[in-house]
Amino acid sequence: MEQETIPFNRPCHTGRETEYVEDCIRRGKTCGNGEYTARCQRYFKDKTGSLKCMMTTSCTDALEMAAMLAGIGPGDEVIVPSYTFVSTALAFARQGADIVFADSRADSPDIDADCIEALVTPRTRAIVPVHYAGIACDMDAIMDIARRHGLLVIEDAAQGIDSFYKGRALGSIGHMGCFSFHETKNIQCGEGGMLLINDPALIERAEILWEKGTNRQKFFRGEVDKYGWVDMGSSFLPADYVCAFLWAQLEHLDEIQERRRAIWRRYDTGIADSPRFSRPSLPAYATNNAHAYYLVTRTPEDRTALIAWLKQRGIHAVFHYLSLHNSEYARRRGWSGADLPQADRYTECLVRLPLFRDLSDAEADRIIDAVNEFFASEPEKA
Ligand SMILES: *Cc1c(COP(=O)(O)O)cnc(C)c1O
Repeated sequence: MEQETIPFNRPCHTGRETEYVEDCIRRGKTCGNGEYTARCQRYFKDKTGSLKCMMTTSCTDALEMAAMLAGIGPGDEVIVPSYTFVSTALAFARQGADIVFADSRADSPDIDADCIEALVTPRTRAIVPVHYAGIACDMDAIMDIARRHGLLVIEDAAQGIDSFYKGRALGSIGHMGCFSFHETKNIQCGEGGMLLINDPALIERAEILWEKGTNRQKFFRGEVDKYGWVDMGSSFLPADYVCAFLWAQLEHLDEIQERRRAIWRRYDTGIADSPRFSRPSLPAYATNNAHAYYLVTRTPEDRTALIAWLKQRGIHAVFHYLSLHNSEYARRRGWSGADLPQADRYTECLVRLPLFRDLSDAEADRIIDAVNEFFASEPEKA
């Protein structure tokens, strides 16, 4: 019997998305900063304790806004992990900064806090930790380095909603934090993001950059009697019906997260140990939002063979990032000098298994069985 292919991801739907989008249309205000935008922002402000949460059209956009707010410009250096999505570095490169790539930890793709200090120079302005798979970086160590050198910390928490470091929400610990609501994330609205501002000194300017360099927010609050062009900026805010879609997901966040965590635990207990791979490690300071379940094989050959093995069995497992320090663009800019062995190892050996709310227990078990059969078989010769 042909088995149905299990995709890597199926974007989550909760059922009320179109109802809320229609409600937004009925209200007669579909542009940005409307009722649903306010609801989503209030939700995350309450949940994270951040001083200000601003919806953006993507996490990339939130990172770009953060780079502008940080005042990053030509001649500045920004420390970014090499094993991450392009946007983490792009947002700062776009402002004219030079990117300095840091390696990952041996036990997780998160940035290795121990290697950051050696990268700091008089030109360094910011550190951008990425909470890989929603599992927190060692934020105390990173914030301590930042404090001692007068640097800003901008958390790329694209995968980190509803996840915590020592009880503090990811995205709310650095000076700024960024979330993604792309269709591949735990909750989604197609394309969407959020900027979290945790430093009171950045709030007033954030409102201006968000609304095309105007003091429109002050005008709405009655603090000025007309609004005009006062600073740099762009149109970072999404349409309100995008936020209406997201609101339908937020209403079900706990249920979505519970289901994802159940699948994650099923993988972690069902997949038998083997010296041929390591599984995700959860530091005592971090919670798990079950954004991803991944294995790191000991050899690149095993990763390639495992992906092909699963594909033959109708299971779509995927690798992840290509180290940015080896990218064509970084080479062209002369940012690729460092030797970053962990980033390269994750580039070659990390594989992610399907994980989405609607994955059934039976499908998860089919995946677990296939993975266990693979590692019980003889490894292919390199
Ligand atoms: C998804 C992701 C982004 C980009 O998010 P968009 O909303 O698609 O712009 C950036 N950084 C990381 C680590 C991501 O996982």
